[in-house]
Amino acid sequence: FDIRISPIKHKNNRQLGRTITIRDITETVQLRQEIEQLAVTDPLTGIYNRRHFMKQGEQLFTHTTRCKHSLSLLMIDLDYFKRVNDQYGHIVGDEVLKHFTRNLQNLIRSVDIFARYGGEEFIILLPETKKLDACRIAERIRKNVEMSPIQCEGFQVKITLSAGVAERVNDEQSTLSGLINSADNALYKAKAKGRNRIEQS
Ligand code: GH3
Ligand code: MG
Ligand code: MG
Repeated sequence: FDIRISPIKHKNNRQLGRTITIRDITETVQLRQEIEQLAVTDPLTGIYNRRHFMKQGEQLFTHTTRCKHSLSLLMIDLDYFKRVNDQYGHIVGDEVLKHFTRNLQNLIRSVDIFARYGGEEFIILLPETKKLDACRIAERIRKNVEMSPIQCEGFQVKITLSAGVAERVNDEQSTLSGLINSADNALYKAKAKGRNRIEQS
């Protein structure tokens, strides 16, 4: 409720009473919450979008730099995803992206920041995680995805992924964009080496 109280005054300025207006603003508040939610999420998968990732990521990056805590990043790209669309159609492709996202959410911690970075590209920021552990996590995800074909519209869609891993270096000059770049370069290496693999920066 929105409550407003205003005085009722006589022309000689003496207060005669008060009016109290109580307005039900449930719908407005719900609408505002919905809009706020839409602004941070990717409409297909329901996870964070790139813009929100950057916002949250910058905060986490600054915090970990100040506290000298470790921070790692995974850049994931699904392999030959164009073929999935070509073979099964775009609708199945969309469903596969949704299933993949849901599965992945179960493989990471709630403190990790997981977002859709682009079409079939995903990014995960792992606080308090060193590169070696991030590589283990990435490998666990890679294996899990390879071993669990997605059931969709009567098809069994097999997908694999490639990922690049990078860790923040303890340097005043280091930035989130720099960390993303390093992970991206490692991902590029994974693709060049044949896909369905993890590489580190
Ligand atoms: P690579 O192993 O080199 O990554 O091969 P790729 O085919 O995955 O790579 P490329 O980047 O050339 O193609 C990505 C494809 O992902 C192209 C596009 O059709 C598909 N894609 C991107 N976003 C979506 C989406 O939202 N829905 C569906 N169904 N497909 C998408
Ligand atoms: Mg791609
Ligand atoms: Mg791809």
